[in-house]
Amino acid sequence: MKYIDGFRDRETALFLRNRMTGAAERLAADGRTARVMEVCGSHTMAIARYGVRDLLPPAVDLISGPGCPVCVTDTGYIDAAIELARRGVVVATFGDLMRVPGSRETLARVRAEGAHVPVCYSPAAALEIAKREPENEVVFLAIGFETTVAPVISIVDAARRDGVRNISLLTAFKLVPPALRALLDDPAIRVDAFLCPAHVSAIIGADAYRPFVEDDRVPCVVAGFEPLDILLGIAEIVEQFAAGEARLVNQYSRVVKPEGNRKALNLMKRLLEPVDAAWRGIGVIPGSGLGLRAEVAEFDAAKRFGLVIDAGKTNPACKCGDVLKGVIRPRECPLFGGVCHPDNPIGPCMVSSEGSCAAAFKYSRCA
Ligand code: SF4
Repeated sequence: MKYIDGFRDRETALFLRNRMTGAAERLAADGRTARVMEVCGSHTMAIARYGVRDLLPPAVDLISGPGCPVCVTDTGYIDAAIELARRGVVVATFGDLMRVPGSRETLARVRAEGAHVPVCYSPAAALEIAKREPENEVVFLAIGFETTVAPVISIVDAARRDGVRNISLLTAFKLVPPALRALLDDPAIRVDAFLCPAHVSAIIGADAYRPFVEDDRVPCVVAGFEPLDILLGIAEIVEQFAAGEARLVNQYSRVVKPEGNRKALNLMKRLLEPVDAAWRGIGVIPGSGLGLRAEVAEFDAAKRFGLVIDAGKTNPACKCGDVLKGVIRPRECPLFGGVCHPDNPIGPCMVSSEGSCAAAFKYSRCA
């Protein structure tokens, strides 16, 4: 704990709160608020868990963004995974996807009915299943942001090396910068600054946000996940915003480099190419996903099994799309805490350990 305590110190938290007070008072005097979007689902969870909102001045409006990889996975993708499972394919997945609603059911339901849907804690575990069960086709559900892309696609190289032919990936990778661009370009959404994600930034590098700062004049601060990381990041943003400045600040330099992780980026470039991607509740964002290149198409489960992935059907009362865009807060969804709760999630935001609705439900202080 001695390595963590320094990032959770109460006195330092109060110091950081006081540090942003002057800037926040200038904003309030001008009748302005700073709408700061925390992009990452892990930030959302940490903010709720440590009560960060309670420490912020009224002129700082902290909103959640589309940074939960499970939450943004489209309904049609879940339907396609369920179809594969029903066809007798082994569908290996991270646990968070099990209870995400498809159009009619969940992977957990089809598993309870007898389908082979093993939960894996790493992509390598799916490869091990394929080696152990050569008589079966194994599909790994390859979702996630830049953080998880490299470890997932590394199994393509490993499968080639080991001559494993019965594994493929159903890809729904998402890229953060195109999503931020879409939010900034949407006139119905107001975002004044980004608290940029930590793990994603470790891969793509802090410089990836430079266009938002230089072209859009939107302050961007990369922050770690501890409460003092987050408070320091918000203090930086509020001071910039009050001063009419927009700068890129890498508060998490102990992990994030300006250029990112070259090894991971090279692997991604060699095996993947940009594609348009469907985001649940948001729609298709051009160039916001990654698909397997033609040279490795044999590992593309959608091609191998002739899958057509459509939009699927979501509960019309579910407001996950608005939550993911920061348009509403979880409690403003009419289903929150009533019909929709962690034991009966109607949308993915109530399922995932990084979902805004799950965070709001678990930590009552989160608005
Ligand atoms: S409360 Fe449930 S239905 Fe409403 S937005 Fe959140 S996950 Fe979706």
